[in-house]
Amino acid sequence: MPEVLGLWRLIHRVGRIAEPARPAPAAGEVDPPERAVAAGLAGSVQIRHVDAGSCNGCEVEIGSAFGPVHDAERYGARLVASPRHADALVVTGPVTRNMAEPLRRTYEAVPGPKVVVAVGDCARNCGVFAGAYGVVGSVAEVVPVDVEIAGCPPRPEAIVAGLRTLTGR
Ligand code: SF4
Repeated sequence: MPEVLGLWRLIHRVGRIAEPARPAPAAGEVDPPERAVAAGLAGSVQIRHVDAGSCNGCEVEIGSAFGPVHDAERYGARLVASPRHADALVVTGPVTRNMAEPLRRTYEAVPGPKVVVAVGDCARNCGVFAGAYGVVGSVAEVVPVDVEIAGCPPRPEAIVAGLRTLTGR
């Protein structure tokens, strides 16, 4: 019981730590991808993440985007464990030889219509790994990409903003 009281006091002392919510994107301010509109994603998007060869920097920032401070879930974006439950893929890293086929298969496993978000410069254009022997190419060279989020790695705010173009919230 004293442990519970201590925990309660800690929660009370720390209070709410989430960043204040920024205003929702205004109509006309964002241009949701055609396939996001076709998929009827407005308000809620279930996301499967695929690391196609990242250095793990982008994963740290995605973890932060979904953590208690940036809290992407409050805008309707949610990570799920299976591509079969997903509306969208978030892909990080350049696509390595070993991950090209798994990425294609994961894309095929997502029920359509579906959306692909390339997160980070490596996903967009291979970034610092361009030309490396183990790299097949950018994400768009393997599966169709609808949204790109720039940065190496992108800040969590940029990841949240990119996902909000899908949820519209
Ligand atoms: S964009 Fe930067 S942080 Fe992300 S996987 Fe590439 S090198 Fe790592």
